[in-house]
Amino acid sequence: MKVSKTSIGTAIKSSPELLKELFKGDLRMLNYHIKSGLIERLRFKFPKEKMLSYFNNLPETDCTDNNHIEIREKIAIMTFDDVFDEEIYEYENNINAKSTFFLLSYKLNKNSIKKDVDLQLHYDARYSQIDKQKEKFEKLTGKNPIASRHHTLWWTHTHLELIYLAMNGIKVDSSLPGIKPFRLCIQGKLLPIWEVPFSVCDSPSVLSAPYGIPSKMETLFEKKISPIVGLFHPYLKHQSRWKDFYKFSKKYRYKFMTVTEFYNKYLKGK
Ligand SMILES: [Zn+2]
Repeated sequence: MKVSKTSIGTAIKSSPELLKELFKGDLRMLNYHIKSGLIERLRFKFPKEKMLSYFNNLPETDCTDNNHIEIREKIAIMTFDDVFDEEIYEYENNINAKSTFFLLSYKLNKNSIKKDVDLQLHYDARYSQIDKQKEKFEKLTGKNPIASRHHTLWWTHTHLELIYLAMNGIKVDSSLPGIKPFRLCIQGKLLPIWEVPFSVCDSPSVLSAPYGIPSKMETLFEKKISPIVGLFHPYLKHQSRWKDFYKFSKKYRYKFMTVTEFYNKYLKGK
């Protein structure tokens, strides 16, 4: 197993837990922490003062629980991560479907994006603060993102991360596995950002970041879960079963929606 010297150096500085594991000689566990993004997480600097003042200015409510929303209509939201893909775009056009692309700002290529697609930000906190990535995204796409999904999904997406995203104008995050959209309630305040969890994922791995909910995609459709959010990657399109998402959506009469359409119809102002 390869663990680079720099990674070990960072690991030692970053966490006593990792130091313990290093002394135990548990390189496997150490490697897991490095790969699972714990090091990057410890190194990320939240702008705490700004976040605190943002949070203090949010209106108080009488909430004692997260605000969940029940969706009666059968909605299927297909999403793709990392980069835009022409073949997927054409395929969707042919079958009358649509989806949302979460795009990495540092992989954005102006020429490869279509204006009629729902493009949103695929934030990567290991790279830089979100305002820098938003700025580049807006410059290249001409669009102001309202949604974000974290690349590698290593954030925990609890209060810190969600306050940080909300403070930066993000209205929807979609980085947690789950089935019910919610707004987080903290100290009597509902954060002005919706978590719209994904329930289907093209990665089978549970111990690296992503995983879906059921073992069979069709189960969600059979059980009339709504919304069903698919998370797929263009680079896995030849091995994943991304076309099944549309097949089941049609078979079980689900309506396709982009993240933006879903937000505008069900979440905005709630
Ligand atoms: Zn990604």
